[in-house]
Amino acid sequence: MPKMNDAYAALPGSYLFSEVARRVKAHREAHPEAEVISLGIGDVSQPLIPAVIEALHQAVDEMGKAGSFRGYGPEQGYAFLREAILEHDFKPRGVALEADEIFISDGAKSDVGNIQELFGPDAVVALTDPVYPVYEDSNAMAGRAGERKDGRWSRIVYLPCTAENGFEPALPERRPDMIYLCCPNNPTGTVLSRAALTRWVDYARENDAVILFDAAYESFISSPEIVHSIYEIPGADEVAIEFRSLSKTAGFTGLRCAYTMVPHKLRAHAADGTELSLHDMWLRRQCTKYNGCPYIVQRAAEAVFREPAQAQLEAQLGIYRANARMILDTCTSLGLEAFGGEHSPYVWLRTPQGMKSWDFFDLMLSRASVVCTPGVGFGACGEGYARFTAFASPEQTLKALERFQSIL
Ligand code: PLP
Repeated sequence: MPKMNDAYAALPGSYLFSEVARRVKAHREAHPEAEVISLGIGDVSQPLIPAVIEALHQAVDEMGKAGSFRGYGPEQGYAFLREAILEHDFKPRGVALEADEIFISDGAKSDVGNIQELFGPDAVVALTDPVYPVYEDSNAMAGRAGERKDGRWSRIVYLPCTAENGFEPALPERRPDMIYLCCPNNPTGTVLSRAALTRWVDYARENDAVILFDAAYESFISSPEIVHSIYEIPGADEVAIEFRSLSKTAGFTGLRCAYTMVPHKLRAHAADGTELSLHDMWLRRQCTKYNGCPYIVQRAAEAVFREPAQAQLEAQLGIYRANARMILDTCTSLGLEAFGGEHSPYVWLRTPQGMKSWDFFDLMLSRASVVCTPGVGFGACGEGYARFTAFASPEQTLKALERFQSIL
């Protein structure tokens, strides 16, 4: 038998969503008449907007003609898309990035999972708890996480985020090399203030650390006080890599397009002290292992950043925002403590009467046929919380909340 990567043997199973699916299946079998509503999924439900569909059709036609057919594209993505991103996402916010600091890809999940390859096997990782599981698992797969005991990895620095600290992680006591921050946050739906992000950027600069900033949900931000990009914080272009995605912004979860910013100023050092550019390393990595996001998808993505797409997307985001507001209002009207939902499609509920996350999940499923996500599945500090998502239809969301109200 071939020798395996031992780090995979130490990985816990992907328990959370498979266990959710198992319990939902058992409930459906026991109650075939029940209409199960899911407020658990992190996937969009609204169809692609007309402007994107039109751009796709045009690009498909181009691919069928000799004069406009395209094969392999440029490694970092087409210039038309990178320029559109600069114009739309960064220039209006005063962020001076260069087009060649943007890397187009087929998803933020692969980029946030792959980026750790640039760092040494003994680099120390800091993660918030609760957390989007990809950050932790991808480092564990690379053998960087140490031993797993009582649901935690020995070499990972965990940064608790709970109602008690306002979901703002404290600066770590032990210096990490890599710091994952997700804002607006999945799963808590909360955001970090400009002041909090400034503290992190300053910390990273003082401690030679790199911030891996996941902004997959930035389009949900609804206040001018909250920054959309970490590069709005002075000095962040020396210490931060940012990940963005069209999945939740424009309903691209099935189409697949994301982009990652790796500024030229970012540096890391090799074991012998040689300084290297993280930008050059990521370019090298992508050129070797990735052949690009499809041309037709990049054309669809380009359309997202122009009118009439922006107006169409605003209407679509409005549906999810209204759902989030409905979930938040229902929870608070029931006297429950709920967080997030304002700048995010996620509402993070403190379970009533101190119930354990899975007990609350079972109660919701058995009595209301409503699926949520148990907070403990995102990390130890998620115990006693549950995540609700705003991605179901307004009708389903309303129905689920009526049932929720009736069982409490
Ligand atoms: N980052 C966060 C925080 C997410 O929640 C998700 C998806 O749920 C992703 C990244 C992945 O996005 P993509 O669909 O672009 O792979």
